[in-house]
Amino acid sequence: MVYSMRKLNITLYVFMGVIISYVFLIYIAVINPEGSQYTHNESVFEKQGDKKIVIAFRNDDLSANSNLAHEESVLNIFWKYGIKQTFAFIPNQGQNRNNEVNFSTGSHPVFNALENWSKEGKIEFALHGYTHQRSEGSSGEFDGLLYDNQLEKIENGKRILDKNLNTDVNIFAPPWNQADKNTIKACVDSGIHIFSGYLGEEPAEGMTSVNTNAVLFPKTNSGGEDEGLPSMEHVFEYAKNGCGVTFLIVFYHSNSDFSELDDYLYLDNLLQGFANCSTTIEISSIGEIAERYRDYLPAYNQAGLNIKEALEAKHVAKPYVFLYRKINEITGRELLIDKLNSDAFQAYWSGNYKHASKLAIEIIDRCDNYVVYGRVMPIIGSGLVFLIFLGFSKSRKIDSPYMSYRNFLLIFVVPFIIVGAYLNLFLFVSTIRIKEYNIISGLYIGGILVGIALSKIIAINKGKR
Ligand SMILES: [Zn+2]
Repeated sequence: MVYSMRKLNITLYVFMGVIISYVFLIYIAVINPEGSQYTHNESVFEKQGDKKIVIAFRNDDLSANSNLAHEESVLNIFWKYGIKQTFAFIPNQGQNRNNEVNFSTGSHPVFNALENWSKEGKIEFALHGYTHQRSEGSSGEFDGLLYDNQLEKIENGKRILDKNLNTDVNIFAPPWNQADKNTIKACVDSGIHIFSGYLGEEPAEGMTSVNTNAVLFPKTNSGGEDEGLPSMEHVFEYAKNGCGVTFLIVFYHSNSDFSELDDYLYLDNLLQGFANCSTTIEISSIGEIAERYRDYLPAYNQAGLNIKEALEAKHVAKPYVFLYRKINEITGRELLIDKLNSDAFQAYWSGNYKHASKLAIEIIDRCDNYVVYGRVMPIIGSGLVFLIFLGFSKSRKIDSPYMSYRNFLLIFVVPFIIVGAYLNLFLFVSTIRIKEYNIISGLYIGGILVGIALSKIIAINKGKR
């Protein structure tokens, strides 16, 4: 009687231990998925203003090597409608630090012309990186680099630009619109107080964000559909039916976007259309918008930032979303996330920044759920694997399935190959996927280890019988 009570206790402890271990693994899977971080400040949405579309044009990639005649031909179309553009200038294109461009003021025709255009009020300047070359460990030239490194580049860039163009540049537009917190801090510390990227950036003291949300010439695929960034015309259709102050900040590249006469005609027609439009439109420069709409820009930036964070969350959850979508197709249910995504963008383009932000956060929450479902799967998987082997315990061979070399390979290697191949299918050898792979692998190994420990204990327990 005493003996069987002891046996019962051991079995009870073992099973409690297993349950606690599995719950712990699930807890690890559930806490803090990558996407769940978002920024939110409801108070920025309080100010909305009367209905108005505020437009700006940012022309990227000007440099000392720009073709002056070509630049002037594009500029003339904008100036025909009295539009002041923002010229994002690369201070040190293609040069390294020791081989800095160093034209004395007034000696270079591009600098002369740009300085004159600036004096005439046709353009304003933005600093467009330093060399406009991708840095190692960065998705652009700046993000991911150390603060000191970024500060040095921005200070040097500003110095070159200020000296050669006789200005005091106050706008930073990072190459490829890629920046991080350190970039913003380095800008503020270099005396630059306006930032222009794409969508949104984390709010920072002393910095006003006037981010872009469209391109003048979208890249189209063979079917003529927009690829990636939305076109100005597309965004304008939503902005027209929008509410409050709605921003439409466009970037383009005069040096590559105007290869044919049609491109000039397209721009001319587009600007003419704005001039004749019945909706209230204000076309201004990024610097002037930053001054005039200081109170309205935080809502625009917040919505853009939340959409950016939602895109990131979708990116993290992509393999799981894909799997979940397939499962839903079988059960005939519709996956909401795609609809939420297009609704969020449409609200953003329409100037309904509060709603856009709300939808974006809903996307992030859903993506978090998909990640959690996905991560729980290997734990359940390892549990199932263990239960299968538990069946062997009747034949007292509980250890052997784990010890046999072939089974070892089967249990440990095959799932890793399958999961690794699946996760990386969506983005080959990306840090996000590798991180996710490590987490999944850790959970699976954890589950198997718990199973092995349990089978060992049971075997010992049986041996004592
Ligand atoms: Zn650029």
